[in-house]
Amino acid sequence: MSEDSEKEDYSDRTISDEDESDEDMFMKFVSEDLHRCALLTADSFGDPFFPRTTQILLEYQLGRWVPRLREPRDLYGVSSSGPLSPTRWPYHCEVIDEKVQHIDWTPSCPEPVYIPTGLETEPLYPDSKEATVVYLAEDAYKEPCFVYSRVGGNRTPLKQPVDYRDNTLMFEARFESGNLQKVVKVAEYEYQLTVRPDLFTNKHTQWYYFQVTNMRAGIVYRFTIVNFTKPASLYSRGMRPLFYSEKEAKAHHIGWQRIGDQIKYYRNNPGQDGRHYFSLTWTFQFPHNKDTCYFAHCYPYTYTNLQEYLSGINNDPVRSKFCKIRVLCHTLARNMVYILTITTPLKNSDSRKRKAVILTARVHPGETNSSWIMKGFLDYILGNSSDAQLLRDTFVFKVVPMLNPDGVIVGNYRCSLAGRDLNRNYTSLLKESFPSVWYTRNMVHRLMEKREVILYCDLHGHSRKENIFMYGCDGSDRSKTLYLQQRIFPLMLSKNCPDKFSFSACKFNVQKSKEGTGRVVMWKMGIRNSFTMEATFCGSTLGNKRGTHFSTKDLESMGYHFCDSLLDYCDPDRTKYYRCLKELEEMERHITLEKVFEDSDTPVIDITLDVESSSRGSDSSESIDSLTYLLKLTSQKKHLKTKKERNSTIASHQNAREGQEVYDRGHLLQRHKQSNSDVKDTRPNEPDDYMVDYFRRQLPNQGLGE
Ligand SMILES: [Zn+2]
Repeated sequence: MSEDSEKEDYSDRTISDEDESDEDMFMKFVSEDLHRCALLTADSFGDPFFPRTTQILLEYQLGRWVPRLREPRDLYGVSSSGPLSPTRWPYHCEVIDEKVQHIDWTPSCPEPVYIPTGLETEPLYPDSKEATVVYLAEDAYKEPCFVYSRVGGNRTPLKQPVDYRDNTLMFEARFESGNLQKVVKVAEYEYQLTVRPDLFTNKHTQWYYFQVTNMRAGIVYRFTIVNFTKPASLYSRGMRPLFYSEKEAKAHHIGWQRIGDQIKYYRNNPGQDGRHYFSLTWTFQFPHNKDTCYFAHCYPYTYTNLQEYLSGINNDPVRSKFCKIRVLCHTLARNMVYILTITTPLKNSDSRKRKAVILTARVHPGETNSSWIMKGFLDYILGNSSDAQLLRDTFVFKVVPMLNPDGVIVGNYRCSLAGRDLNRNYTSLLKESFPSVWYTRNMVHRLMEKREVILYCDLHGHSRKENIFMYGCDGSDRSKTLYLQQRIFPLMLSKNCPDKFSFSACKFNVQKSKEGTGRVVMWKMGIRNSFTMEATFCGSTLGNKRGTHFSTKDLESMGYHFCDSLLDYCDPDRTKYYRCLKELEEMERHITLEKVFEDSDTPVIDITLDVESSSRGSDSSESIDSLTYLLKLTSQKKHLKTKKERNSTIASHQNAREGQEVYDRGHLLQRHKQSNSDVKDTRPNEPDDYMVDYFRRQLPNQGLGE
């Protein structure tokens, strides 16, 4: 890390509120040790004049408790032992002591989506007196808004789940990222579940993650979650719930798997508030008796998972050299938002020449798939491959892996503890209300004063569409060059992973409702390549992965493809760049043409003339202008190592194809039509799809392969 970037780190951390809540830490300590402490008595503890401080610690030495001063706090919040700090909850949240942990596992075969039989039932549960409430989390509604936080949440003795001493299932969700509000047993093996809305809101029900125990193997159980609010869902398109069995993990090393029969997503009766809700129902047979099992909407990735991951980096003598972990800010609940600076340390030369790349994730806490992409990115960029080394030598990566830890901890789907969507508040001046997005914007602003930021990408999950795709910002009103240029990176990504990433699903615009998003704010600050990457909760409709769910490894591999596409984008050999540009120009021309045909009654001859003179048309003089401009724009990349070696096979492929049209008109129209079809096979091996083939390369042996 150069001095320059070190300074940058300091300036990033303009943390205004370093004081921790004294009461909480002290109370916790005292309540645990009061009865054995010779120095403090219950009376003195209750004394209003008793000094309340976190600076005094008690240590048990030679048979007695001795007070000592705490060591000075690490200014960056990341201690020498790594970025592990206790998880803080809103004070009223009940949290069980048990640590929930899951093993990492990928199924050997891709897991197919559910094909409806047409015989699925749609259970409706009118209020019935015979039904038994078997789980109820009452603490969520104790306060109308966030008040204060505590390590470990509520201190009063926890309500114990009722053991009915029969075959009634027992439910639990009072753990990190858990979400379950209420469970009603409606029949012998049938349960009606309600998920908790995001804290301090009455909506955003989508994320669920809960534990089930006391089951019998081989019995068909039915679960129905009855309070979803979105009319459309991937559960209507074959997505299956995720299931985890501790016995399976222990005995067969099997982790999260897709399960369920009779899966159906449907509108149910209006609720008490008159709103319509949607139900998800499925049936399932547990593999073992008396197991401890979990169901979830997506592969969980908690704040503790992140802290453990970052600790691993921090304690690694190699990776910690080029990855500095700092605290960007504290959240409302005083959890830490981490920022990573990844670049090869420079001793003497000026690191300002290095351009910056910004990557963020988990602004929406229920979109855990974004964390798996982030993990894949970090695994790769901190790895020992020559490409990762090249990227670290070339760029400064600023990474905020979890923008909304509070939301993640309490099991929210979309909001922070302010009860708001942080990704609509990047323009807000309310630093105290939305610290993580305020400090992220501030960090980017400062970064841009020092170096060019070539790309910003915020990772998300998508609940209605398959595949992985991007949203960009429309530069069409600036110039045609910008209009096309911002599409190049997503197009390259689609060529590098054609069975996961769909270019045709990408959208480039700035809607009024999205003006507070990170993508639009960063774009308006001047970052041309400003993206939201959306990863489906379900799976792929493309190529060899068509009809299957994405595993965590699939999601992680997107982190690698992101890096690979970044190298393509900045490759001094501009062949791929210009091929993509040309393809985009062709695509644009034909999309415009098709649109005109669809929208107009004008005779064909007039339309053709109109398109020829259109400002976005592929007029040859304009093409030359844009190419000249881009050549200028990218000519300073000569210090980069060429990727010719890696791409020698590609180069020969290209020569063989020299002179061939990139796409003929018919193919382009067909391609555009594919964009509107979710089931069209775009298998890369089709003979006419050589552009896709052209980009295909072997994945490195880092466990990120498909
Ligand atoms: Zn999102």
